[in-house]
Amino acid sequence: MYDKIKEMLEERKQELETLLTRVETSARRKLDKDFEEQAIQRQNEEVLTSLDNSLNDELDQIEEALYRIEQGMYGKCVNCGNEISEKRLLAVPHTSLCIECAA
Ligand SMILES: [Zn+2]
Repeated sequence: MYDKIKEMLEERKQELETLLTRVETSARRKLDKDFEEQAIQRQNEEVLTSLDNSLNDELDQIEEALYRIEQGMYGKCVNCGNEISEKRLLAVPHTSLCIECAA
């Protein structure tokens, strides 16, 4: 029933996992150059940390959406229980809220 969406979620999940691995690898890379470069490195780390957090959030939502598909609960708003429109699901497959509740 939600095969197409499940496929989209799984693809996005792989993409995010690849990105996260890349972010973590570059966050761990240490610069032992001069002070100025270390300052730049710290700024980069802050950007990477917030990127890391938003990627992790999305990954959590995707895993939850995949779980709801497995459980047959997918496509219903977790807040009001109404059906979420297919158009919205295709646009934001990891959503758990209908358009009214998300607004
Ligand atoms: Zn709702």
